[in-house]
Amino acid sequence: MTRAAIIRKNAAALAPAPHLLDYEVERRRFSWDAVRAELGTMPGGGINIAWAAVDRHLGTPVRDHVAFRFLGRDAHCNALRNDSRRDITYAELARLTNRFANALRSLGVGRGDRVFLLASRIPELYIAALGALKSGSVLTPLFSAFGPEPIKTRMTIGACKVLITTEALYRRKVASIRAELPQLEHILLVGEGGARTSVPGTRDLATLMEAASDAFEAERMSADDLALLHFTSGTTGTPKGAMHAHGAVVTHYATGRYALDLHPEDLFWCTADPGWVTGTSYGIIAPLLHGVTSLVDEADFDAERWYRLLQDEHVSVWYTAPTAVRMLMKAGPEVVKKYRFPELRFIASVGEPLNPEAVWWGAQVLGLPIHDNWWQTETGGIMIANTPAMDIKPGSMGRPLPGIDACIVKKTDTGFEEVREADVEGELALRVGWPSMFRGYLNQEERYRKCFSGDYYLTGDLARRDADGYFWFVGRADDVIKSAGHLIGPFEVESALMEHPAVAEAGVIGKPDPMVGETVKAFVSLKAGYTANDELLMELLGHARKRLGAAVAPKEIAFLPSLPRTRSGKIMRRLLKARELGLPEGDTSTLESGA
Ligand code: ATP
Ligand code: MG
Repeated sequence: MTRAAIIRKNAAALAPAPHLLDYEVERRRFSWDAVRAELGTMPGGGINIAWAAVDRHLGTPVRDHVAFRFLGRDAHCNALRNDSRRDITYAELARLTNRFANALRSLGVGRGDRVFLLASRIPELYIAALGALKSGSVLTPLFSAFGPEPIKTRMTIGACKVLITTEALYRRKVASIRAELPQLEHILLVGEGGARTSVPGTRDLATLMEAASDAFEAERMSADDLALLHFTSGTTGTPKGAMHAHGAVVTHYATGRYALDLHPEDLFWCTADPGWVTGTSYGIIAPLLHGVTSLVDEADFDAERWYRLLQDEHVSVWYTAPTAVRMLMKAGPEVVKKYRFPELRFIASVGEPLNPEAVWWGAQVLGLPIHDNWWQTETGGIMIANTPAMDIKPGSMGRPLPGIDACIVKKTDTGFEEVREADVEGELALRVGWPSMFRGYLNQEERYRKCFSGDYYLTGDLARRDADGYFWFVGRADDVIKSAGHLIGPFEVESALMEHPAVAEAGVIGKPDPMVGETVKAFVSLKAGYTANDELLMELLGHARKRLGAAVAPKEIAFLPSLPRTRSGKIMRRLLKARELGLPEGDTSTLESGA
């Protein structure tokens, strides 16, 4: 099917009116200082992410609005159980996070102390995250499916002083490594279903909270004081610890408005786990800053459940990831036909390139195209986006948000130089100065320094900018394939393969070749109902050659039941390559189990 290259938007028809209506005008009049002033400072001065997210609303009608709607794993599965739904208003959230901050204080924990969280998406995780920020502690949420080794490594390099986890996770993953964590002073446990626990060497969180006062004045921090330590996804190598400061909240606020278009009446669902930066910046902080209700589902991905939640919970703004979209596509059209999404008005995606096929799938199946946006753990917030009023060019990440200057740079003898012409591939760079820029890689000062050249932060991603100012992702600098003098971005090849009805996922690598430098090899997994055989192989090779030309199309295609992915859902091309070439697999701490 031939499709228009652009999905046109009629901004006047969108309700509510999008925050970013006129891109050029808004960019011109934007200033970070104005956003800072709008967000305000704490009474008496200072800033604290948790104050801005929660306590700032207490003198307004938002105080009685639901902040989080938590769904337990059983919610919607068994009508007789209603204990697996819990709504928490902003006022309640303020009291609960105050209790938690006081509980930390009673243990002598506060400013600058490192607090780690290890739990599934349960209410206590969100309360502890915001309470820790209130107390001035530096917060690190870990992904609850990590095994003991990745937990130990991160807690060691992050100098974890306090860990909040569940009794079950403690027994399974922490007890065995505890002796190797001398800096870990306190472990606070949540019992099964929130019940009390008494495990030797740990404290019961519920008891501590009960004894604590529900009044607490958030610590007054400066914009440069550290707030969060996030580990990257480990897609390209060993995960790095990116440090973020309280001033980042200004970006969270501005991007919640422009890129996610949050309005007070929205029911927002960010599907990312708080163990990754998206799940914290946009699963906790940004929606609270805007006073909206966030849905938090403890259960893992399940196509039927997700469609049901979108429908029954009246989700209006949905922030998800390409891997989830591909899994929904893979589940087939029959499942989705049972549901309707009249309240859904905006869908965005981040984490990996979003294949044009997925954008169109959204438009056809959900009634809304999916809006790709780009950012990294290091940037702390969304930088480049397709926003509601902007025409979409499927396959493009969109345009830089107000306040963000993005450009393409090339290496020269003296450093890096901005490429001013359109449609030239080079490294994506951002002009420094946005509030949520990372402040360092933990214990890797030299590596941090190398990310900058003059006024630019170098992202490590290759992209190009077209004449309309839209950015197109080419590939990670590490993944780009050099074949017979061509630079081939894996994304282009993967997207072409995804257009074939049989293909569910594709991952492309370069294989060393004495003649041409590297040849292109693709790995694909198939949708339900298709069988891997020679006939299909020939068909896919032919399809790719027709779409891409012989110089860019894969020479080889291999079928896999599924592709190796990080736990945050990204295809690990470095692992496909290592396995293909029989090389060591490197750091696999973030590899999804069984992949
Ligand atoms: P590591 O740095 O440890 O290798 P990672 O880069 O995957 O892991 P994250 O910070 O979670 O860790 O991911 C950011 C990266 O994800 C970006 O640099 C980019 O390569 C990719 N990415 C994110 N969003 C998009 C997008 N919309 N399009 C293309 N790539 C994206
Ligand atoms: Mg990275």
